[in-house]
Amino acid sequence: MSQHHHHDHDHSHHDHSQAGRAFRWSIVLNSGLTALQLVIGFGFGSLALIGDAVHNLGDVIGLVLGWGAERLSLKPPRGRFTYGYGRSTQIVSLINALLICSAGTVVVVEAIQRLVHPVPLIAGPVAWAAAAGIVINLLSARLFGHNHHHDLNQRAAVLHLLTDAAVSVAVLVSALVVGLTGWFWLDAITAIGVGAAVIWSAVDLLREAIALNLDATPRHINLAEVKQLLTALPGVESVEALHIWGLSTSRTALTAHLVVDVSCFESSAQHPQQLIQQAQSALAGVGIRKSTLQLETSHHHCGESR
Ligand SMILES: [Zn+2]
Repeated sequence: MSQHHHHDHDHSHHDHSQAGRAFRWSIVLNSGLTALQLVIGFGFGSLALIGDAVHNLGDVIGLVLGWGAERLSLKPPRGRFTYGYGRSTQIVSLINALLICSAGTVVVVEAIQRLVHPVPLIAGPVAWAAAAGIVINLLSARLFGHNHHHDLNQRAAVLHLLTDAAVSVAVLVSALVVGLTGWFWLDAITAIGVGAAVIWSAVDLLREAIALNLDATPRHINLAEVKQLLTALPGVESVEALHIWGLSTSRTALTAHLVVDVSCFESSAQHPQQLIQQAQSALAGVGIRKSTLQLETSHHHCGESR
């Protein structure tokens, strides 16, 4: 498996290993952070910190899934699994989104109960753990932001990490105020905010996971743009039975019928097979590298109507 991977991707090995390193470090740092925040949150009574930990746990699972998706999509298809194994990450991300949603709900419900019956907390360690959250998220943002400024996914990841740092800032400020004033209810209020943020982002993950499991076109592909791209090819009158779906989070497949005007091919020197190659390279340009195209003939005369 590992050998196969290296053999296939020698040409982009440098790029690959750099991104892989950022991934691995993010997973290690965020796992450590999650564990620290859970221990201190439970040990010293801060629900806000536990909420932050739940969110970070979701991030760790998300990172592992992203890493797993990349590895699984490289695994060759075998036996009945003619599509390979990339889709397994979509099933797991659905389960992950459901788990994080429930965990966020538990935090909010518990926080409402604590609002009625405040639980004392020891602010010092909570503040330190929140500070660790700020440092680690900023460090991760730097780690990712270093490689590709232009990559949209990477930019989304950096934005996410900065938002996470802001959540940790809220927990830190709340812990400091509780330490100074003894307002234990403030921790519950902060926990409600953090829990709501956790649910909000998990619902977004859930919607995307359901969409991908229903073979929806991945978000980064513009369906109308692809249709236009194919229709614009010489000799193509229309596009029918267009399907675009994800084989894994990083691989996209397409099938379509191209309705072509045969008389156009008769008058020009172009061969139908050339059209398919042209279409496939145009599709590769928008990130669709696995396309199956079928030509259908129309009964118009070349250029008669479109
Ligand atoms: Zn996050």
